Amino acid sequence: MPSRSPLRWLWPVFGLVLALAGSVWLLQRDTTARRGAFDTDARIAHRLLSQQAVQHDAILATLVLLQPGGDGAGAEQRLPALYPQVLQVLRRGRGQAWPAAELAAAETASALSGRAVVTQIDTQTGQYTLLRAGEPASYALRIDARRTVPWTEWPLAAEGPARAELVMGGKPWVIQPGRSAAGVMNLQASKRLASESQAFDLRISRGVAWSELPWPGLLLWCTAAGAAAAGLAAWQRQRAAVRRAQELLRLGQVGRLNALGELAAGMAHELNQPLTAVLASTQAARRLLDDEEPDLATARQALIQSAQQARRAADVVSRLRRLVQAPDADAAPQTLGLAVLLRNVLDLMQPQGVQLDLSSLDDAVRVRADPVALEQVLHNLLLNALQALERVPQAQRRLAVSCKAEGTRALLNVQDSGPGFAPETLQRAFEPFFTTRPGGLGLGLSLCDTLVAGMGGSLAAHNREVGGAELVLTLPLATA
Ligand code: ADP
Repeated sequence: MPSRSPLRWLWPVFGLVLALAGSVWLLQRDTTARRGAFDTDARIAHRLLSQQAVQHDAILATLVLLQPGGDGAGAEQRLPALYPQVLQVLRRGRGQAWPAAELAAAETASALSGRAVVTQIDTQTGQYTLLRAGEPASYALRIDARRTVPWTEWPLAAEGPARAELVMGGKPWVIQPGRSAAGVMNLQASKRLASESQAFDLRISRGVAWSELPWPGLLLWCTAAGAAAAGLAAWQRQRAAVRRAQELLRLGQVGRLNALGELAAGMAHELNQPLTAVLASTQAARRLLDDEEPDLATARQALIQSAQQARRAADVVSRLRRLVQAPDADAAPQTLGLAVLLRNVLDLMQPQGVQLDLSSLDDAVRVRADPVALEQVLHNLLLNALQALERVPQAQRRLAVSCKAEGTRALLNVQDSGPGFAPETLQRAFEPFFTTRPGGLGLGLSLCDTLVAGMGGSLAAHNREVGGAELVLTLPLATA
């Protein structure tokens, strides 16, 4: 049973954390930028209104100083034409009375404080009176706050989300209503105008709607985080699959070797009996024939027995051949890409420290064969070559595999730069149990030979002129 990796939650969690962290960062950046822009706008609005208030103080101070008019048609009456926010200029000369008691009270306050005083605030219309006591005459300006707003320079968009109010005498007068937004957050700024006489508070607020959040950026980031997590998960899965395949292959090899070891031991045991009997019978026959009067009948009997035992031994051997040969003898042949199969086997084996030359592998060559058997053959041939290469210095280790189509056959060559076959080895390399390798079973090439013959092909071995061994595998082409 394949165990499920305990790390399988790692990548989804990683993706989620990445998406969240990025989103928080994006939102924070957006909020900071939005707050910065809002604060700048509020500062500009405050400065503009403060300048106007200071101007009103200056106008009054000038009037008190210069004392124009007196007959109700003085130069001061031209002020409303110059300053649209000044609706009316009032003057109280010596011996005259103010038209309203509030104005008289404001004059007293102004005389006491020595500066202009605000009175008659109307928060419905946004109008107020600014009065300054003077000698011989006091002056007052009726001011329309709406007209003090310099709309051309005003930083807050008229139909925009920001709301602006001027708090006059404790009551708010709305300069601009703003689009009320039920939103994620509310930005606020409040500051008193920089004028001693008209100490009104300017209050600006702005709601941030959900729709104003940086959705495209967030979406892009979350998609990227998801894709990164999915990519990494796929990469991890692929690595695990490769590792598992290698492990399986190793286990398979070990298992096969173990099974072959068992088999060899069993074989030795089974062969021992008939061979001992053959030996005993032939020795008995020889003794009988050596007698002065040879007992020919008994000697013949002994030889017949010997032949029977020899046949038994041959049976045991062919039974072994059948067992070893073709576990998948009945497997239906398939059309296979020879180069693809070879690359798969090489991928699994991952030969190290060997110069690999696959430049002459023709990818178009397709054969009819049993994939499992053919993989086993390729594996054995490559393994033999790699084992031979271990016997030469690393710098000289070269392995070249090529394949091509020739007539109705496919040819696959495995060439190594190892020591090659010793002359007596070349004769016997395909014999079962023939090996020169300590610990070798001597079944590799014989098994390959049998498997290849089963697929309608052949296997040949020879030494290359330049040194090293070459194994030539021939198989029927798929098109043939
Ligand atoms: P094993 O690998 O178990 O010895 P094999 O049947 O695969 O059995 O090989 C038989 C013998 O043939 C090996 O012991 C080795 O001496 C020889 N042989 C096989 N392949 C090569 C090769 N590429 N180069 C040199 N000798 C080889």
